Order: sequence, then C-alpha cells, then structure tokens
Amino acid sequence: MKSLKQQDPAIFEQLEKETNRQNFNLELIASENFASKAVMQAAGSVLTNKYAEGYPGKRYYGGCEYADVVEDIARDRAKKLFNADWVNVQPHSGATANAAVYLAFMKPGDTLLGFDLSHGGHLTHGSHVNFSGIYFKPEFYGVEKETGRLDYNKIREKAKAVNPKMISIGASAYSRDYDYEAFRSIADEVGAFLWMDMAHTAGLIAVGNLKNPLPHAHVVTTTTHKTLRGPRGGMILVGKDGENELGVVAPKSGRVKNWSEVLDSAVFPGTQGGPLMHIIAAKAVSYGEALQEDFKEYQTQVQKNAKAMSAQFVEMGYEIVSGGTDNHLILIDLRNKGVTGKIAEEALGKAAITVNKNMVPFDTESPFVTSGIRIGSPAMTTRGFGEAEFKQVAKLVDKVIQSPNDESVHNSVAKEVEALCENFPLYDFATV
Ligand SMILES: *Cc1c(COP(=O)(O)O)cnc(C)c1O
Repeated sequence: MKSLKQQDPAIFEQLEKETNRQNFNLELIASENFASKAVMQAAGSVLTNKYAEGYPGKRYYGGCEYADVVEDIARDRAKKLFNADWVNVQPHSGATANAAVYLAFMKPGDTLLGFDLSHGGHLTHGSHVNFSGIYFKPEFYGVEKETGRLDYNKIREKAKAVNPKMISIGASAYSRDYDYEAFRSIADEVGAFLWMDMAHTAGLIAVGNLKNPLPHAHVVTTTTHKTLRGPRGGMILVGKDGENELGVVAPKSGRVKNWSEVLDSAVFPGTQGGPLMHIIAAKAVSYGEALQEDFKEYQTQVQKNAKAMSAQFVEMGYEIVSGGTDNHLILIDLRNKGVTGKIAEEALGKAAITVNKNMVPFDTESPFVTSGIRIGSPAMTTRGFGEAEFKQVAKLVDKVIQSPNDESVHNSVAKEVEALCENFPLYDFATV
C-alpha cells in the first residue's frame, strides 16, 4: 500500500505544515494538549476498520474479540483513575457524552440549571444555539462581580426559585475548584440530578490535585484530550452505581434502572452508533500513561506554571478574574489595558503565540469581540516548560499587548518564541 505522502500529497503537505506550526508556536489554548506518540499510534491503527456496536461481550457484530479486550482495558483503567464504579468510554467527544446525559435524565422542556455561559460555562450547558438550550429550558447561575467566584447561597436560592430537573457544574473558563458537597446538598434539596462536566480539569482530578466530583455528582462527563492528554474524545463516569433514588425508569417496562444501565443505553443506541474503536484504544493508552507516577508530576507542574504566569501578569498590572488560579488556566480581563480580546488574539497570533479571546464575567463587549483572553498551561508544560519559561511567556504576551499594531514587535517576539520552542522539541513526525 502507498504511504499518505505518495497517495495524497495535498493533505500530507498540510499535515507537515501543521506539525511545523505546533512545533514553533506557543500553544496557550487552555483546552489543548500534545498527545504522545503511543496515543497517536493507537489512534492511527487498524481498529479504525472495526464495527463494534454494543459493549464488550454483547456486540452486534462478529470479530470483536480483540476490540472487547481493548475496551475492557480502557474501562478498567478509567475506573481506577477516577475511583469509579462504572464508566462508558464510547462517547465520540465531550459534547456527545453530554448529549447522552441529557437523553438519560431529561425530557424536552425540563429545566437545567447550569453555569452561565458568559461567565465561563460551556455551550452544551444550555446555550440557545445548542440542542441543550433548544430542547430544554436553561437557567443559569454565575460568579460574583467582586470576587469572580461562585456564591453557593445564591446558587441555592436560584435552584429553589427555578426548580431544575438537573443541575450542571463545569466550565471552560473558571479557574477555581468547586464545592461539590454544597452542590449536592442543593441538588438534594430541590430533587435534581447533579451532573459534573470535568472536561477541562479531568487530568488534575485524576491525580488528586483537584477534588474528585465522583462521590458527589450522580454522573460525571469529560473530554479525554484536554488536561487528560489522550486522543480527542469523551467519557461518562459514575462514582457509585446502584438503583437510582431519583427513579429513572426503563421506557417500556417502567422498571427502575440503575445509573449504568440508563447511561449505557443513552450512549448506544441512544445517541451513537458504532464506537470509534481506534480512539478507544488510544484512550486506553492515555489512561495507562495517566496511571504512571510522572503524570502526577506533570499535573502538579501544570498548576505551578499557571500560578507563576498569573503572578507575573499581576505584577505587570493585569487583572486576573478571581485574582488567580487553582487549576491550569487564567482568564485575563484586558479592559484596563485598552485592548479587546479580539485585538489581543490577532496580535498574539502574528507573534506566534496562540490564545483565544474569551468573555469575562459581566463583559461589556460581544462574544465576537470580548474583553478578555484565556491562557492555559497544559500544552507547553507537556513540552517541558517550567515556571521560568511561563514567566517569560507572560512577558512576551505583555510586549504584544502593549503594542498590538506594531509589526516589528510581532516579529521580534516571534523570534523569541522560536528560540524558546527550539529548546523544547516536540514532534519529529507529521503522521505516525
Ligand atoms: C471542551 C468542553 C466540552 C466539549 O468537548 P468537545 O469534545 O469539544 O465536544 C464540553 N464541556 C466542557 C465544560 C468543555 O470544556
């Protein structure tokens, strides 16, 4: 068979350029990371050919004996990582994992109480442009203007006022940990399901550097490609399986089901067809990596780096939402610097620094402009950056933000970025 390079030079050329981009840019997008060669090899494997609808031991296709072993290994490792009774590793992405949760626990028109999208929440938690806001009735809680943090008394008041069927936790731009006990007591008080979406922080939770939501939430979803550093994908977990006290029943028999049954059917056949077995193999590999001792060191460094960068920005007069960070990201409010998120993102891009513009709580700009940028440490920490490098990163970002329209600044910063990247090599291949 022909190699990709021989078969399709047009695509191969772009992959080579993308490899070069990843190697020589400062990747500061908080939701991105660099998967290992082993993870990519599994993702690029022959399992892409296999149909395996169903679950290990209960498939709708023949020839699944090796696929079964792979999925069982992935499930066992995930359970061990998060101390879970049950896990489903088949969701194709974070959004489809969330879709399965809605299908399992909500009926059209039911109320969801979620983290305000303009305060850092996620589209799949009730945005009017997402199915979650179209089929269900979204209500929101948010952070306090003075502290940038959640006020649990206010969330309780809101829950009592709107009487939600489900309460969701989880955001893509919140730099603090959560009080899961408080959330659970609120959910119990109003008789709601409690769902935690740990898409951003799963890696930090896996090693015990942030609190584990599994003992408190009825169901937990995650992506596998952010801090967890696996292939692009999703997963659903349950801390304690057993008959659910909120009485989810089987549609036909009316029998009360346990969490795992309800959620397994919500993934397949509820919202997906055949699982991506090559990606499940890659998930297994990444969970294996996450169970190693050095993954804990990596996550601890991710947090140290985010803190060091945050402190450097504060020293240079920047406003960090909530004043700092407990996790892998910071949200900078640029209003006192006289630039918008859009201008900052574009100018930094010209200087080989990749960030995303982001709404800040109580933003006065539109989502297309925004007043902030979000910066994360996971990807560059994977490359080996420590606190000294992240302080330097903050200074480079500052240089560009001080002169967003100055081409000579873009060029000189891009040169410094290239020099930094050369000291921390990444990929020496475009495909595996
Ligand atoms: C990233 C993210 C998702 C979506 O994940 P995809 O894999 O992009 O679908 C869902 N929820 C939260 C909180 C996220 O940060």
